[in-house]
Amino acid sequence: MASWIMADFDDVLDKTLGGIDFNPRELKAKYLEERDKRVRTDANAQYIEVTGDFSNFVDDPYAPAAERKPVTDHVDVVIVGGGFGGLLMGGRLREAGFDDIRVIEKGGDFGGTWYWNRYPGAMCDVESYCYLPMLEELGYVPKHKYSFAPEIMEHSKNIATHYGLYDNALLSTGVTHTEWNDDTDRWTITTDRGDEMTARVIVMANGPLNRPKLPGIDGINDFGGHTFHTSRWDYEYTGGSNEGGLDGLADKRVGIIGTGATAVQCVPHLGAAAKELYVFQRTPSSVDVRNNRETPPDFLEGQETGWQYRRMDNFNKLVTGADQDEDLVNDGWTDIFRKLTGIAAKTASKELGRRLTRHERAELMEMADYRKMESVRRRAQEIVDDPDVAESLKPYYRQFCKRPCFHDEYLPTFNLANVHLVDTDGKGVERFTETGLVANGEHIELDCIIFATGFEVGTNYVRRAGYDTVGRAGRQLSEKWKNGLRTVHGLQTEGFPNAFFMGFNQGAVTVNIPQTLNEQAVQIAYMLDQVRARGGSQIEATPEGEQAWVDEMIDKERLGAKFRAECTPGYYNNEGVAENPNGFFSANYGAGPVRFFEILSDWREQGDLEGCTVT
Ligand code: NDP
Repeated sequence: MASWIMADFDDVLDKTLGGIDFNPRELKAKYLEERDKRVRTDANAQYIEVTGDFSNFVDDPYAPAAERKPVTDHVDVVIVGGGFGGLLMGGRLREAGFDDIRVIEKGGDFGGTWYWNRYPGAMCDVESYCYLPMLEELGYVPKHKYSFAPEIMEHSKNIATHYGLYDNALLSTGVTHTEWNDDTDRWTITTDRGDEMTARVIVMANGPLNRPKLPGIDGINDFGGHTFHTSRWDYEYTGGSNEGGLDGLADKRVGIIGTGATAVQCVPHLGAAAKELYVFQRTPSSVDVRNNRETPPDFLEGQETGWQYRRMDNFNKLVTGADQDEDLVNDGWTDIFRKLTGIAAKTASKELGRRLTRHERAELMEMADYRKMESVRRRAQEIVDDPDVAESLKPYYRQFCKRPCFHDEYLPTFNLANVHLVDTDGKGVERFTETGLVANGEHIELDCIIFATGFEVGTNYVRRAGYDTVGRAGRQLSEKWKNGLRTVHGLQTEGFPNAFFMGFNQGAVTVNIPQTLNEQAVQIAYMLDQVRARGGSQIEATPEGEQAWVDEMIDKERLGAKFRAECTPGYYNNEGVAENPNGFFSANYGAGPVRFFEILSDWREQGDLEGCTVT
């Protein structure tokens, strides 16, 4: 008997999952054992902030900052960040008739994450027809089902051009401080280029994963060879481009630390080019089928206006477990959710002829998860020739403990004679030396070490933004949010008038991040339009409005807490620590994006700006 609940449920599992050909008890024990190996009390503190000696890791390798005079003028709206958040915000504000807009962007151009992440093989693993913002507005159809980074970057620039966002923008410019002035009712914004401008409104579109992190490994300063982070790829050193051809590595011994979604995409190119490639793995990713393909020439045939929104909505609903009659995207993401969420429960309750109990539903999900991960592990077994290497590449945790990956060339790369997997069995790299790395007690000589170690998540907002914001009566945001975020819908916080926050700050996380950013941009544009329509100039969260949203956040936060506690550490579960007020899920609305978007649209429909005050 496989079922943990009752005998007749085995039959349902058979019918819905096609039988149980694994031992769930053994798998559960193995998952917990793998988690226990990795839990560390230092959690996020194991990583080094990219400041001081490490600040060169965030320099812009793509565009030298051109000389210009400091700016000291006034604009109506300043948007901090020229990634998808800033682009959508700028676009929606222009559509609402706001003309005096300035985008301030650290990078040398628009694009945000796609400006910085140019590593070989960089692409988006969410379907392009959902992911690339404003396709209909720009009349653009992506070239592939999954777009490569250069195309996404180009599309970002096209959005900026379309909405006139280059006019008045300050590129290669980092904000250093923002402060509200009670006397003038204006924000003052200072930057690292000596600018000191004022604005009525400020929108922070800094991005959720914008600050690279480095592992706090002993001797990190000792290495005498070349190093860089994947989000600042050094093509001068490696040669080649996003498409590969990294000729500069032909005589190099290269080490890459990390095997997350980024490494999965660039390892095949490194393997193809480097003399020797050592992949230092702490935890393997779940790597499923990609199956990318060109967009068929008749893609738009029969699509009515609003097709992109309908597709995004359909995808979002499917990947949150909601019921939909059709699956417009039909890919690895929707497949996972079809098998692991309410959709699978619905099929099972049909078989039983009744609703499932909460326990039955949980068991079904768990069994379906084991089954899904068994297929991912089988894939590694089938593709990788060396059985020991294949075993090392098998992930032993539930699918959503870490971000699922999809790639067709990653696993075969480990069949190349020059590619070596250094499986550290959850321990990670031990230390740097002047000439290489030590892992599993063995020293490996290297010419170059690439950090594919990801981005800061779960550290406090101000640290990730890189500057503090000072509101009414000199109150600092770092102080106000010291013990966790306090907002209305994640967008405004009391004491900081006309300041808006985009991203994952008490909003809802989605697989398709631009959809959240678009909903936020629509909401902020609506709010500013309402202020104008009411003859006001300021909008601010009320203490009551803020408390109501904080209570709602806490109420929904417990959803999924048990699941995350049993997960192998990663940024989804605060690196294995239960409590973190800035944690990825503490900062996200537990009832999910479908409900969150409804809350926003109902709020607009209601029309009384509940929880905010206009003056
Ligand atoms: P991640 O945070 O996902 O991965 C970091 C990697 O570094 C992990 O494998 C981690 O291991 C490893 N690591 C950290 N410290 C050590 C150490 N001391 N020794 C050895 N290994 C170590 O970063 P990524 O850049 O890969 O991805 C970040 C996010 O960016 C993704 O989750 C995704 O949201 C997004 N992304 C999206 C893409 C897309 O296609 N849409 C593509 C790429 C990224 P461990 O797992 O054990 O912590």
